[in-house]
Parts: sequence; structure tokens; C-alpha cells
Amino acid sequence: MTLQSELEFAVEVVRSAVKICRSVQGQISVGKWDKGDKTPVTVADLAVQAVVSHGLHEKFPHDPLMGEEGSEELRAPEFADLAQQVTQHVQTVRPDAASPAQVAEWVERGQHAIDPSRRYWVLDPVDGTKGFLRKEQYAIALALVERGEILVGVLACPNLPTTLGTAESPIYGQLYAAVRGGGAQRLDLGPGDAIAKRSPLRVSPESNPALLDWVERVESSDKNHDVTSLVVSAVGIVNEPHRIDSQAKYAAVARGDAALYLRHSLSKTYIEKVWDHAAGVIVTEEAGGRVTDVHGQRLDFTVGRQLERNTGIVASNGLIHDRVLQAIAARLGNS
Ligand code: AMP
Ligand code: MG
Repeated sequence: MTLQSELEFAVEVVRSAVKICRSVQGQISVGKWDKGDKTPVTVADLAVQAVVSHGLHEKFPHDPLMGEEGSEELRAPEFADLAQQVTQHVQTVRPDAASPAQVAEWVERGQHAIDPSRRYWVLDPVDGTKGFLRKEQYAIALALVERGEILVGVLACPNLPTTLGTAESPIYGQLYAAVRGGGAQRLDLGPGDAIAKRSPLRVSPESNPALLDWVERVESSDKNHDVTSLVVSAVGIVNEPHRIDSQAKYAAVARGDAALYLRHSLSKTYIEKVWDHAAGVIVTEEAGGRVTDVHGQRLDFTVGRQLERNTGIVASNGLIHDRVLQAIAARLGNS
């Protein structure tokens, strides 16, 4: 099983998705939408899911898609204007999209019941919606999972600077792609979102906590930053975190800018979603890193749309992983 055609499909369809997201995000600045209006992210989310779902149906008609979005808004008469905008964006990369009803049908396939213990694709069309609206970091994340094992993952990070912490704004952004057993690559995009350069990805070799960089969420709604700061100080990490939205955090670990991505809160109610992790996990692992939940358990992608059997995320270069898990166990026990 080489998975070459799956990888090529994922890269191509995610490149089309980047085009759509860039075009929608560009319209935020020219004042098409009010600040605070969430419409642009809804337009991008729905258009990307439609394009990926339709592309998948053509290329791998028997493979089901687990997509984050539903099609309700595309069918509701009061959202006819939104449906029109989504359809226009879809048509820029899929001129065969005939109508909002057809686009809704494509989106809807991502909500069909699937058996997650077998083979499925999972999509987060716009991961990091808040970052997208702020014109900061977001990702498009597509992965193929079979019997709980992630086989292929492609992550697009259109706004990620090539070095974390710089204000540099990339013109084209990058894709991060991995195939199980085949390593991970960074694909730099160039004009027309063509692939300009490919380079292998490798995690950071840093094992000294006092020297390493780490990443975490921007959002702090459930005191997650209090928890992560307690853990990293117990490990001996002294640098301030880079806070970035979306699975771009996994890309930062995979390419060695950060040695740790820690995602943990004491919330008992929130359960992580499959589409927020699958692509990022394989890219990190294939770059030589390690990903578990905060109790050191492997992420279980066989359960459904949520990671019901896991709590939080520890993604690292591998070298500091056990120390982080020990600190969590010592400071927070099984909470
Ligand atoms: P991030 O950009 O890393 O903050 O991740 C964004 C994702 O976090 C969204 O796509 C949501 O699915 C997910 N999310 C929403 N609320 C929470 C929460 N309370 N804890 C963890 N993840 C959340
Ligand atoms: Mg998401």
C-alpha cells in the first residue's frame, strides 16, 4: 500500500481549499464584512468542505468523509445570500458546481453516518476560526484514517511565518504532508499556489527544557493557560509560549520551531474533536515526534467524531515527552 494517489489527491484538494480561504480572507480587509461578523469563516468553511467532499467522491467514491460542517445554512431560505456566496467561491475552483442545492449536497456528505473503526477521511475545513477572522493563523486539515491508524495527513498553514515569533507575513504559506512510514514534508507554495519547494521535516533535537520553545492555544476560556504554565514550570521550561490558533501548532513542532505543544485544561466537559488533530498528529509523528493524550495514551480515532477516550494533547519532539507526562501526573494526578 503506497498511498501515493491518496497523498496526491489530498495535496491537490487542499491547495484548492487554500485558494478559497485566501480569497475569502482577503475580502475581510476590503470591508465586505463588518468586524466581528462571523460570515467569512462560515463561507470559507462551507465552500472548502463542498470542494473536498466532491473531489473525494470523484476520486475515492467508496471512502466516507467525516466533515466538521453541516449543510443547514445552505438550505435555509433566510440564508440564501450566504448560500450564493458559498457557491460562487466553490465555482472558482469547481466550475461544475451548478447551484447552492448541489453545493449543499456535497457538504452534507461529510455528515453521513460512518463506521469510524474502518476507513474514513476527516476534514476540518477552517481550523482556528478565530485566527482566520483575526487574519492570523488558521489551517485546513485533511487526513485519512483506517482502523484507527492515520495513514495520510495534509495540513495547510497559509499564514504561518517560516520562523515562529517573527512578524514576517508569508506571501504564500505552506502545506505540511505526511504518509505513514514515509516521513513528513513541507511544501512551500508559490505563485498560483503551485508547489515551489519540498523539504523534509524533522522535529527539534533539543532536550534541555531550559532552552526549548513551546506552543499552546490562543484561547484561554477554561483556564487552560493556568494548567499548561504549571506543567511547563514543573518540567523546567522557562521560555514564554508561542500562542497560535489551529493545527499550525503541530506544524511548529514537526518543523522543529517548538519542541512541545501542550493542550490541557481541567474542563471535564470538553471532548477533543477528531478533525482538530488527525492531520497534525501524523505530520508530527512522521517528522520524528510523539503524540499522546495527557495521560500518555495513544489517541483513539476509532470511536466517532470525538476523542471520547482521551484527555488533552501532548505533542513533542519525543525527547521531552516522558518528562512532560510525569509532570502532569505529579502535579495534576488523573484530573
Ligand atoms: P485552537 O485553535 O487550538 O484553539 O483549536 C480550535 C479548536 O478548538 C476548535 O476547532 C474547536 O473545535 C476546539 N475547541 C473549542 N472549545 C474548546 C475547549 N474548551 N477546549 C479545547 N478545544 C476547544
Ligand atoms: Mg477546528
